[in-house]
Amino acid sequence: MTRALILVRLKPRQPDGSMIGESRRTCHLVPTPEADAMPQFLTAYCGLRIAPGSGEVLSSPVGMPCEPCLACSPVVVLDLLRHVRPWLGGPVER
Ligand SMILES: [Zn+2]
Repeated sequence: MTRALILVRLKPRQPDGSMIGESRRTCHLVPTPEADAMPQFLTAYCGLRIAPGSGEVLSSPVGMPCEPCLACSPVVVLDLLRHVRPWLGGPVER
């Protein structure tokens, strides 16, 4: 069973008032926390700890994906693409 993923991007203004540059606002992949757990941080696959209030949950990928996250996560979407691509376009051998 694959755990659900959520997409999280850091907010441009952090709760402590610091600003995050656009280049650092990559789209991180975060495993959904256990239902009964209330973690203090969300931990992305790249190891980034996202404190409450410092990130925004995205409904679809926006901007640059975080490459370490992509490399470390079981990316269901990419796996799906591999299956769907031959079916979507290009000559399909029959
Ligand atoms: Zn990341």
